[in-house]
Amino acid sequence: MTTAMRASRLAGGDRRIRVSFEFFPPATEEMEKTLWESIERLKPLAPDFVSVTYGAGGSTRERTHATVKRILAQTPLTPAAHLTCVAATRAEIDAIVDSYAQAGVRHIVALRGDPPQGPGARFVPHPQGYRNAADLVAGIRRRGDFEITVSAYPEKHPDSPTVEADIDMLKAKVDAGAKRAITQFFFENDLYFRYLDRVRARGIDIPVVPGILPVQNFKAMTGFAARCGASVPAWLAERFQGLDDDPATRKLIAAAVAAEQVVDLVDRGVTTFHFYTMNRADLVYAICHLLGLRPALPEAA
Ligand code: FAD
Repeated sequence: MTTAMRASRLAGGDRRIRVSFEFFPPATEEMEKTLWESIERLKPLAPDFVSVTYGAGGSTRERTHATVKRILAQTPLTPAAHLTCVAATRAEIDAIVDSYAQAGVRHIVALRGDPPQGPGARFVPHPQGYRNAADLVAGIRRRGDFEITVSAYPEKHPDSPTVEADIDMLKAKVDAGAKRAITQFFFENDLYFRYLDRVRARGIDIPVVPGILPVQNFKAMTGFAARCGASVPAWLAERFQGLDDDPATRKLIAAAVAAEQVVDLVDRGVTTFHFYTMNRADLVYAICHLLGLRPALPEAA
């Protein structure tokens, strides 16, 4: 039996494949159209939840809120709103959390966020703000009965001096009430499993869901990966070599690469995936199909 057949069988068996999808709030009408086409396309796959990011420094506060509310109002999907501590007082963050509670949002992805100067600059908490992601998780817990998800870094966060210090922060977030972690994207599955061993050895038992990034744009991805401390293996660069002006082939390669990654993860026991969709459905839909997911909800809006 091939690995793809094994993965496909898993999806229908006891170890059902579960997925979640991440979107970012659109900045223009055209991007809004693309986002909603993608949500409509992915919706029938019945994800556990769909998350909406919070722009650097809170720059998309209103747009994140509007997108989350529209998902609640117009789809059967469960939204999760990302929230960061950057450049805001505790009172401001608390007000956002309360407004989510009022709107019916029960799931928050709680993050420290990057400093306004961007990743790599030193993070300085707002004097009246939450100090870090663990402090934010505790603050959200105090405001209501939210499901709280946090980040995890198989290759450690660039601010963190060591993997151990990084795992200490994950432990602090779990102790504060986080119930799930989603990883930064990675391309070498061994990195994820090595990290998971260390997390479990530290007594952390929440799900650590692999974050999968189908590579829509290799060049853009490498810039982003450098800033967030994710390594890009030479074999991956080789696969995209010479395709800068060939988007159609790039897409096929991207699907093949992501398929190979998730099928290997399934083979090694993973059943839950978070997809960084970049607001595009086609690659993610294809990978989910390969994993055996089939429409469970009506296709029409
Ligand atoms: P934390 O978990 O708080 O910290 C990460 C690591 O950095 C820890 O190991 C900690 O030890 C170390 N660290 C933190 N602060 C310090 C310090 N002052 N000195 C030394 N070490 C320190 N960003 C957004 O702006 N909006 C989003 O919607 C968003 N969504 C994300 C979703 C996921 C799944 C992931 C993985 C990341 C996301 N990010 C988002 C990026 C994230 O905000 C950045 O990576 C940010 O730099 C760290 O936030 P965090 O909550 O991951 O950090």
